[in-house]
Amino acid sequence: MSNPLGFSFYKRTFLNRSILVSPLLVGVVFISGSNQDLHAKEKSIIAIEPLVCDVVKAISPPSRKITCLINRSENVHNFRMSPKQAQMLSNASQIITLGPEMTPAMKKWVGNPITLLIGASAIKIEKNAHNKENGHHQDHGNMNSAGINGQNHDHHSHGGLDPHIWHNPQNIIKMGKLISEGVKKTISVFDRSNRKILEKKSESFESILLGLEHWTKQQISTIPTSQRTIVSKHNGMKYYGDAFGLKTVSLLDFLGHSSSLRPKTISSVLSKLKEENIKVIFPEQKPSSKLMRNISKQSSIPLSSKPIYVDGLMPTGNTISVAIHNTCTIVNSLGGLCEKDTAKSLEDQWRLLTLP
Ligand SMILES: [Zn+2]
Repeated sequence: MSNPLGFSFYKRTFLNRSILVSPLLVGVVFISGSNQDLHAKEKSIIAIEPLVCDVVKAISPPSRKITCLINRSENVHNFRMSPKQAQMLSNASQIITLGPEMTPAMKKWVGNPITLLIGASAIKIEKNAHNKENGHHQDHGNMNSAGINGQNHDHHSHGGLDPHIWHNPQNIIKMGKLISEGVKKTISVFDRSNRKILEKKSESFESILLGLEHWTKQQISTIPTSQRTIVSKHNGMKYYGDAFGLKTVSLLDFLGHSSSLRPKTISSVLSKLKEENIKVIFPEQKPSSKLMRNISKQSSIPLSSKPIYVDGLMPTGNTISVAIHNTCTIVNSLGGLCEKDTAKSLEDQWRLLTLP
C-alpha cells in the first residue's frame, strides 16, 4: 500500500480542474449540463481524517467513490482548509468526519445535511441512549456549544470532548455502525448487490476489531502490573488506557500549555513521575520534542525507542497497523512481551477490506 490517500486526493483535484476548464471552451449553454453530468458521475464520499478515510474504505462497497481530504502526513488538529478543498466538500455526496473536536476546521460543516459525524459526540449520543454513563456531559448534541464550553479532558487547546476515540476498538465498531448506516443511504434500495457487500464488509470489519481487542488484551497482560502507566505529552491514549487497564499520565496536564517551564512546575512533574514509578516516557513524534527530551534528561527516565501515534495513522499501513505498532511499543517498553506476528492476519484482512 504505497499512498492511496494522497493519490485519490490528487486524482480528485485533477478531475475538478478539468471540469472547470472544459466548459469554458464550449460556451455557457453547456456549462450547467456538462457540469451536472460529470458531477453526478464523480460525486464522492469525502472522508476528512486519514484514519476515518481508512475506516470508510474498509466498510464501503468498492463501487463507492471515496476521497480522502487530509493527507496522513498532516496534523488534523491544525489543518486549514483551502478554498479548493471547501469546494470539493460542497460537491460531495457525503462528508464523514470525527468532527470539530478532532479537526477544528470542520466546525463550519457541522449541521450540513451531507455531513456525517462519527466522532466523540456522535458516539456519546449513542452511548447516552443505551446507558447512563457520564451523566455530567450535557447537551453535546449541539457541537458548537460543546466546542466552546466543553471543559472536560481539556488536553487540546481547542477543548471539548476527548476526540481520540479509536484507541478503543469498541469505539471503531461504533464509528463503523454510523458509517455503514450513512453509506447505506447513498445506495439505492434496488441495488441489492452493493447493499449485500456493505453488510458483508461490516461484519468482517467488526470481527477484525474484536480480534484486535482480544489480541491487545493478551499483550497488555504480559506487562507487570506495577508498570501499567503510559506517560506521554498529551492525553491522547485515555480511551486506550480505560479500555485495557492502563493508567495514563499527560505531561501537558501538569505543565500547562504555556511554553515557558518554571522550575517549580518541572519539579512537580519530576516528583509525580518518581511517585508513579515510571520506567519510560512515550514520545509522540520522531524526533521527539525538546520538551520530552528535557523531561527525560532531568528525570533520568528514558524515552521509548519508537514513538506512539496518537492522532491517527502512521506514515504507512492502516488502522490495524497503527494499533499493533502502538500496543507493541507500549508493551515492550513497559516490560511485557508483544507478539506482533500473531496480529499480522488481522492487519492483512483489514488491508483486503480496503482494496478498491
Ligand atoms: Zn490529539
